[in-house]
Amino acid sequence: MAKNTRYIFVTGGVVSSLGKGIVSASVGKLLQSRGYSVTIQKLDPYINVDPGTLNPYEHGECYVTEDGAETDLDLGHYERFININTSQANNVTAGKIYLNVIEKERRGDYLGETVQVIPHITDEIKYRIRLLEFNGDYDFIITEIGGTVGDIESLPFIEAVRQLRLELGKRALVIHLTLLPYLANIGELKTKPTQHSVKNLQELGVQPDILICRTQVPITDSVRQKLALFCNVEPRAVIENIDLDTIYKVPIKILDEKLDEVILDKFGIENSNKSDLTKWLNLLDKLENYKNVVKIALVGKYVELKDAYKSIMESFIHAGAFLETKVNLDFISSENIKEENVNNLLAQYQAILIAPGFGERGLEGKILASKYARENKVPFLGICLGMQMAVVEFARNVIKLQDANSREIDPRCLNPVIDLMENQKKISVKGGTMRLGAYPCKITKNSKLYECYKEDLVYERHRHRYEFNNKYLEIFESHGMKAVGINPTEQLVEAVEIENHPFYIGVQFHPEYKSRFEKPHPLFISLVRAAIERFKGE
Ligand code: GLN
Repeated sequence: MAKNTRYIFVTGGVVSSLGKGIVSASVGKLLQSRGYSVTIQKLDPYINVDPGTLNPYEHGECYVTEDGAETDLDLGHYERFININTSQANNVTAGKIYLNVIEKERRGDYLGETVQVIPHITDEIKYRIRLLEFNGDYDFIITEIGGTVGDIESLPFIEAVRQLRLELGKRALVIHLTLLPYLANIGELKTKPTQHSVKNLQELGVQPDILICRTQVPITDSVRQKLALFCNVEPRAVIENIDLDTIYKVPIKILDEKLDEVILDKFGIENSNKSDLTKWLNLLDKLENYKNVVKIALVGKYVELKDAYKSIMESFIHAGAFLETKVNLDFISSENIKEENVNNLLAQYQAILIAPGFGERGLEGKILASKYARENKVPFLGICLGMQMAVVEFARNVIKLQDANSREIDPRCLNPVIDLMENQKKISVKGGTMRLGAYPCKITKNSKLYECYKEDLVYERHRHRYEFNNKYLEIFESHGMKAVGINPTEQLVEAVEIENHPFYIGVQFHPEYKSRFEKPHPLFISLVRAAIERFKGE
């Protein structure tokens, strides 16, 4: 083993949605900023083998890694904060654990044994956690345990943490993220829910080393002392995590709380490098002191739940910070867009993005929005289903193929300008069978797309079953919609754009999965730049 890899486990207490993913990513960022190699992993206690089969209303966006894993959206935060690629090994669900154990049982690997939660399931969990150490070269592995302590589902995971702590000794520590409710009528922060959730953890044999306390108001010294006493942690290990206006300030806030020093000290690491967050701080400064404001419309069907488009929202923040521009992103339900209101709804925007998605709901609205952007020369980016609808719109209204459609929507359509991919035709099983992960895309020189990337070969991530139907390529190109990004091995159309328009690009891939705070994605930068230009001089 190359390194003395340290493990940090992050559990959550009191309520869900406290931002465990952001805290894990922020801890990772702080350690990385001192020169350590870090990776982060999420264990999800649900029985789905991966979140690919979950409706975004259930669990928010499904994030896709470079190697084609469909994962929890927290992996997006990890990549955006610490600027690394995660992989299949970075997201493990209870379903995947059970599936492996049951497959082993069927193979006869446990012949003669009664297969049980302890040790078989917990051994599999521990193996999955340590796989990153065996396959990688990390100073720190941060493992976020999904769910809230006390849930029946997370019990085997907490038990695995208990066992690993014993096995790893000084190489492991546990951070518990909790909530301190504030009672405004008496002006007090309450510690009791945290005491109970820590007691719960202790009953399961796990003593947290560090408490990170989500709070609306600053923690007083007496609250800190009380938490330390009742939860059996050092006062300096009680870390305030106050509500902030942007998640990108969390690393800075916990740095002020000296969380990194506490962690290093508990691991007995001395003479560490000083942390260098210059680039990060510089971007935060640009984010706050913006020089432009733009209004952009995101047209999609999951508009009630912002988490469904998490990576797109964050990509706009990254591009905005880079360009010193505040991006006000409005979510517009594609179902509400009709012929009679499309002008009214969209006239105020400096750019339009059509979101990815599946199924028929709201598609005609996406087609109307694409038409509006094309005709009114509004900067436009269509992502995956968004690109497909831009293609259908162009076919119907420019090429005059009135019955053009995607085969996903109308299987008997006479002009399927978007069709099922050849190698998808035999597939009937839904889980993990789409075209997933990074594929090469060759970019045509002398295109808008090339101006964005300034590269002629890029790798972008995919998640789809349908694609541009190459039988129609010639007629599209002769009418002014060009294929400017092509998969060099399979000749699949990865990107289209139209001529005589300031910025109208559709991409079959998902650029949003690769945008990072310190490395914004060129397509989002270019779209925001085009948005800044719109209305200039009017
Ligand atoms: N439903 C479309 C397909 O499967 C688009 C998928 C997406 O937008 N991610 O091809």
